[in-house]
Amino acid sequence: MFIEIQRKSGLSLTKQIYQGVLDHIRSEFLEENVKLPSVRELSKQLEVSLITVVKAYQRLEQEGFVTSVQGKGTFVRRTALEGRIETKESNPFDWQLSVQDYLQRSQFARFHQVPEKIHLSSSMIDPGLLPNRYLEQELRRMLIENPKVLSQYGEIQGDELLREAMVGYLEKIDIPTSSDQILVTSGSQQGIDLIARTFVGPGDVIIMEAPTYPGAIDAFRGRGAIVLTVPVDNEGMRVDLLHDLCDKYKPKLIYTVPTFQNPTGTVMPIKRRRQVLELAKSMHCLIVEDDPCSEIYFEKKPPASLKSLDQDGHVIYLKGLSKILAPGCRIGVLTASGSIFKRLVAAKANADLGSPLLTQRAITPFITSKRMMEHLKKLRTALKVRRDLALGILSKYAPEEVYWFVPKGGLNLWITFPDWFDTEYLMLEAKKQHITFLPGSACYPSEQENHHFRISYSYVNEQQLEQGIKIICDILQKAKKQKTVKENSPQF
Ligand code: PMP
Repeated sequence: MFIEIQRKSGLSLTKQIYQGVLDHIRSEFLEENVKLPSVRELSKQLEVSLITVVKAYQRLEQEGFVTSVQGKGTFVRRTALEGRIETKESNPFDWQLSVQDYLQRSQFARFHQVPEKIHLSSSMIDPGLLPNRYLEQELRRMLIENPKVLSQYGEIQGDELLREAMVGYLEKIDIPTSSDQILVTSGSQQGIDLIARTFVGPGDVIIMEAPTYPGAIDAFRGRGAIVLTVPVDNEGMRVDLLHDLCDKYKPKLIYTVPTFQNPTGTVMPIKRRRQVLELAKSMHCLIVEDDPCSEIYFEKKPPASLKSLDQDGHVIYLKGLSKILAPGCRIGVLTASGSIFKRLVAAKANADLGSPLLTQRAITPFITSKRMMEHLKKLRTALKVRRDLALGILSKYAPEEVYWFVPKGGLNLWITFPDWFDTEYLMLEAKKQHITFLPGSACYPSEQENHHFRISYSYVNEQQLEQGIKIICDILQKAKKQKTVKENSPQF
């Protein structure tokens, strides 16, 4: 079991070990009844004192995540997490746990593909709001007219037709670029991963927002980066705090979602954007600007992107098409310049020799047609209705101690409750009623906060949205009445 220890992070070593083991349990790498390394083994492996490991194991035990059996060792109790008693037969693949892996977090194993009825955890668009029919017809047409798309490789950098289409599209959303500076990726998740693989290695310092997008946390932490965090307020990343961190630690890269930040929904104002850029320039550091959904605004257009303000190639800009067009096509683009861009193209070749030609060709006509802009307009209208519906239900039914940020666009609502309440409890209760949401703890690269959660109003239909939020509010109301939920639920 590999646990990443970051001596510069400011978090105590005990807390990091505790967190590392918990991440392995939560992401399902450690199954029920699996034996943890002994205190001696782990202290040797991580080069920390015995007492540091003992304290971490004690905390895990107090919270019900492990049990120590005298003379035998410490065993995982996933049941504490799942809230049900389940004893699994010993697993013939247990030997695999001795193979060192570097991904103690893998949030998606945990949060996706569960057979719940109301997925408020899915930060995706309701399929009924996407142009699936059109894309299906396009695919059929293309396969009939040009079946060769199946029997050839596309260009590593991405199909030229799509790259040109994306230049036109990005221009419409004020991102200047050219087709030779566009790399087509398998969703922007691959863009993040390529950046991490190319520019980040063990011990490199990078900066992320806290909270932030869990998939990016996993990609950067998986590379062994030292992840420092800057809190997010109502205007995105706290740039005043960023200054000090940059001075002290000279980061290699700053990852940000400046527009409709995931998970908080905040938008970084232009002044802060300029400051981040100035800082990156003075530090010779890269900015990764992840932009999954700036097109989904409900009031005025968001401020200029960092990319459009960048004069000398500090920004790598990622535009995913999953949140606006077709997540199943797995297409995103990355734009950067100079040697940074060339290295990323080389990384893409290493990763997969280029994205599938079939889906690239299937979406190109839609992007170049006027349907694209019309579709976005409809999407904004439909999602605004859902956002307002969600806000209305929360205002009516949530306890008054609960508050939320009102997003002016995007797909998500970030909800906070008093810290006497724990999201794990809410999650468990919601699960009993077949509802999922994203617990806020998944969104913190280092020290987790447990009294937030994210719901997406974009994926479920209006009826489910209403039903799901009402049930969540009901659970919160009941918990408020009991007030002792946390003390009475030591397993969390
Ligand atoms: N970045 C952010 C901020 C996201 O929210 C997501 C998806 N949830 C991604 C990247 C990855 O999206 P995709 O790979 O589907 O483009």
